[in-house]
Amino acid sequence: MELLEGLWNEVIGFLGITQVLEILQSGDYTAFRTYDGVLSLIYPIIPLLVILEFILGLVYKKPQTKVYKVNFLIYVFNRFVGRFIAIAMVTFCIGLFQPYAPFQTSSTWYWFIYAYIVWEFGHFIYHYLGHKVRLFWCLHATHHAPEEMNLSVTYAHFFLEGPYADTIRTTVCILAGVEPAMLLLIMFIDGTYGAFIHVGENFIKDARFGWLNKIMLTPSHHRVHHARNPLYIDTNFCNLLNIWDRVFGTYQEEQPEIKIEYGVTRKMNTGNFWDVYFGEIVALARDVFQAPGLKNKLLYLIMPPGWNHTGAHKTAKLVRAKYFNNIDK
Ligand SMILES: [Zn+2]
Ligand SMILES: [Zn+2]
Repeated sequence: MELLEGLWNEVIGFLGITQVLEILQSGDYTAFRTYDGVLSLIYPIIPLLVILEFILGLVYKKPQTKVYKVNFLIYVFNRFVGRFIAIAMVTFCIGLFQPYAPFQTSSTWYWFIYAYIVWEFGHFIYHYLGHKVRLFWCLHATHHAPEEMNLSVTYAHFFLEGPYADTIRTTVCILAGVEPAMLLLIMFIDGTYGAFIHVGENFIKDARFGWLNKIMLTPSHHRVHHARNPLYIDTNFCNLLNIWDRVFGTYQEEQPEIKIEYGVTRKMNTGNFWDVYFGEIVALARDVFQAPGLKNKLLYLIMPPGWNHTGAHKTAKLVRAKYFNNIDK
């Protein structure tokens, strides 16, 4: 019985309907009109879309079984490890850095826009480093393993990636004076939208959303980010506004004639949980072990993926540069 109850709680937890059920049980439906009540109704949207998209996949006979299987295992594994490692990095960083903020934002719309742009900057830094520093790539690569796109990819993360990302994003925001309540609201919007941009072709085929593609980051941009094609690799690091991608020259739109190939460039068994979850760490450990001298060993940790001590680099930067060179000829 206990097992069944535990399983039931897990399902409720995944669906994000704990608070909705509490309100329904209390009988006080006016609670849905409060701020928390509205949030409680937004939480279940992504999980429900995941299920709907999965069903659509079955209907279209494009079930993407491998991606769902591995992402389900990752979700279960993260839940399991997460129980033992409760790292409250957000609260920790707020407490640590807030005294150093030169000013504090207030709850107005223009400070909200300021805070969101600052948040996107923090996101850009975390995400960019996740692609350009091999040690951080070990934390992020799990998210790039799937070779097809669907909403379950939202759950494909190495368990330490969240704390790492939140440390950078929270620190940047708090130092820039963003008040904690506004930060938490932005985190909620970012988390929900950041999940939605993984919507797959089974659900929405052309995800450029017309003119919206020009002013914000659409699922199409994020599909490009997940691609390993030479033109697309290591672009579109932002989440909702692609302002920083434009500033730092990493902006790339989807080209209808270049079909997206999802996944990483390393040979990987994408149906194998262990390879998807730990494969990159094993590969890095092997390179460090085999590299001659302490300097080379350390360089493997901090240089971009594809860097090689022999000089035979295969970094994304070189791959992209070669692609443009070939076009020019
Ligand atoms: Zn990424
Ligand atoms: Zn993603």
